[in-house]
Amino acid sequence: MSAAKKEVSPAQAALLRSLPAVEEVLEAPLLTDALADYGRELVVESVRTALERLRKRIMAGEDVAPAEAEPAGVADAAAVEARRVALPHLRPLINATGVVLHTNLGRAVMAPEAIEAVGEIASAYSNLEYDLEAGRRGSRHDHITRLIVALTGAGNALVVNNNAAAVLLALTVFGSGREVVVSRGELIEIGGSFRIPDIMASSSARMVEVGTTNKTKLSDYENAIGPDTAMLLHVHTSNYKVVGFTAEVDIGDLARLGHERGLIVAHDLGSGVLADMPVLADEPSVHQSLASGADIVTFSGDKLLGGPQAGIVVGKSEHIEKMKKHPMARAMRVDKMTLAALQATLAVYLKPEEAIRRIPTLRMLNESDGSLLTRAEKLAGQIRAVTPDLAEVDVEKAASKVGGGSLPLLEIESHVCAVTPFNITVDELAAKIRQADPPAIGRIHREKLLLDVRTILPGQGAALAVAIGEALGGPVTERPEEA
Ligand SMILES: *Cc1c(COP(=O)(O)O)cnc(C)c1O
Repeated sequence: MSAAKKEVSPAQAALLRSLPAVEEVLEAPLLTDALADYGRELVVESVRTALERLRKRIMAGEDVAPAEAEPAGVADAAAVEARRVALPHLRPLINATGVVLHTNLGRAVMAPEAIEAVGEIASAYSNLEYDLEAGRRGSRHDHITRLIVALTGAGNALVVNNNAAAVLLALTVFGSGREVVVSRGELIEIGGSFRIPDIMASSSARMVEVGTTNKTKLSDYENAIGPDTAMLLHVHTSNYKVVGFTAEVDIGDLARLGHERGLIVAHDLGSGVLADMPVLADEPSVHQSLASGADIVTFSGDKLLGGPQAGIVVGKSEHIEKMKKHPMARAMRVDKMTLAALQATLAVYLKPEEAIRRIPTLRMLNESDGSLLTRAEKLAGQIRAVTPDLAEVDVEKAASKVGGGSLPLLEIESHVCAVTPFNITVDELAAKIRQADPPAIGRIHREKLLLDVRTILPGQGAALAVAIGEALGGPVTERPEEA
């Protein structure tokens, strides 16, 4: 830092000298509970952290009240700090953003069947890699392959940790040291540093870009094929759309060209839609992709499929077998909880009407206008009851988003509660409900906090109203019952 350090005033210097020793703070009655609950080590560490923070604030010339620097004040801060460390950091929250697959908020909420399956498989031994019929070692891949094959019509299937891994594995197994042809219009970046050129480089495949950003023709691929070409890759531009003067090659045409030349044609779908729902009509389904002739199709388990984080590869049996045997597949293997959750989710798809009702992602996307309006009105009533004269609460129309890098242009009409606080700013309100228990996340639009009921789960409305009431200083004493 080049700026000169601020002078420490005599008052600040006195405050610094007066800071208590760690041992002295530990004697404070305020820490008795923390010591019993979290143990001495964490509490000592928390006291040190609290003292260090005070020192820094004083040195920076910030206002520090004398009470904060007393043993009881430091103990109070240390107790809060110890609690923060000891309590689960990853925790459930209320997603009132209306973005159904929010990557930052954990993407898909799982079906009850999947949650139950995880609990069962985690609490006992299992036949994860044991063949019960033969009485010897089995394969973890076997539990789910036939179900995926039955649902997609693929020859074979493989599950890895996420779709990024699935794409990397496919490129490594078939493209390493050779060429993979891809359109310049499909060099996507998905949040969290998944970029096609980087994945290609990690796989040691040489990327051959063809066409332009807005137009790629079949002849572009044709002209790029050479003796070193191993694969034609089609990437679904899941999180953006190139609009206007555009052309892209259909996966069916690409598959025909690839097969004429003896090449593998891979299709990275992103979402992997298995359900037939009008709202998802513009998203390519796994079925369509395979029927169009793709040899390898990769997609996520926790996007529109609505299951656990996973990467699913389906396609021609010989290709999938080769991928299963590659050492990299071992490093990407899924654990038993993922397998249990995915198996249970996929089993729901065997009855398509059930899937739309029971898989939360599909249910949210499919919720009727009438149902959304009813829920928004109910939530508005709950919020008004705890914020009399503290906020204006209206029900408004707004658009929900699919999210998770799917259907970027699609806006689905929804109903929101729009909260305009009278005594604090809307940013302050949003910040306060983020600190509530459970935390809640809404979206701000024109000085209003919008709470989109599409993504608010059954049973969360009451807690959300309480959070808003408390944030605005409303007369809340008890959590209202959720009907
Ligand atoms: C989301 C996505 C990925 C990455 O999938 P993860 O499951 O998040 O690893 C890869 N390709 C496309 C086209 C995607 O949409």
